[in-house]
Amino acid sequence: MINEKDLRPKDMGRRDEQLIKLEHEQLMPLFPPYDKPRMEPPLTDPKPDWREKFCTSLDGYVGVDTLTRPKNNGEEDEFVRKFLSGLEKIFSDANNGALQPFLLSFEYCAKCDTCSAACHIYEASGKNELYRPIFRSEVLRKIVKKYFTKSGKLFGGFIGADIDVNWETIARLGELAYRCNLCRRCAQTCPLGLDNSLLTKEIRKIFSQEMGIAPLPLHTKGTVLQIKTGS
Ligand code: SF4
Ligand code: SF4
Repeated sequence: MINEKDLRPKDMGRRDEQLIKLEHEQLMPLFPPYDKPRMEPPLTDPKPDWREKFCTSLDGYVGVDTLTRPKNNGEEDEFVRKFLSGLEKIFSDANNGALQPFLLSFEYCAKCDTCSAACHIYEASGKNELYRPIFRSEVLRKIVKKYFTKSGKLFGGFIGADIDVNWETIARLGELAYRCNLCRRCAQTCPLGLDNSLLTKEIRKIFSQEMGIAPLPLHTKGTVLQIKTGS
């Protein structure tokens, strides 16, 4: 496990069992009347059979119940291949017009960090590095740089394409896309008008449309129900 202050986007590729562990005392206290001692349930470690089946290696919690571990190297390779293929499509010419706000947000972040203070998840976690709005965006940028740019292929780690891409990296990124509720508060404070939630949304989209992976409650009680009954 890594001290959250030392956590860097490239650590998403580490083979550790779990990157960070949340502790009660780090979290933002709840407002009255929910601030009494023992009103909040304890934060527990993931059960061993969850670790074996799901991706608990991000923060010890499972948000995507259809994201299960591969049974062999072939399944792991296929998982990574599908993600990269979906990622490549986002940057294809056909998407240039439709995804322009995404591309601008992807390309022009000044890393000024103004958006962090607007994110309730980052703030409520006690400013945990993992939940910083630009953390998952930076992971995505590193993967794109590594696989889809000439400079990344040639110079790798020297120019920031320093992330190992394996099942753990991609699965953690999929989980991390559900540690953001796409509220776009961060976008309202960005001096450049960039929107990190668009990057999160594209990660979710690759998982659902290219890989068939989305949280079941969201899919069956959200998307499917809405198609059936209307909104
Ligand atoms: S869109 Fe996501 S990252 Fe931005 S403020 Fe909302 S929860 Fe935080
Ligand atoms: S406020 Fe905008 S430019 Fe600054 S770090 Fe956030 S997304 Fe990047």
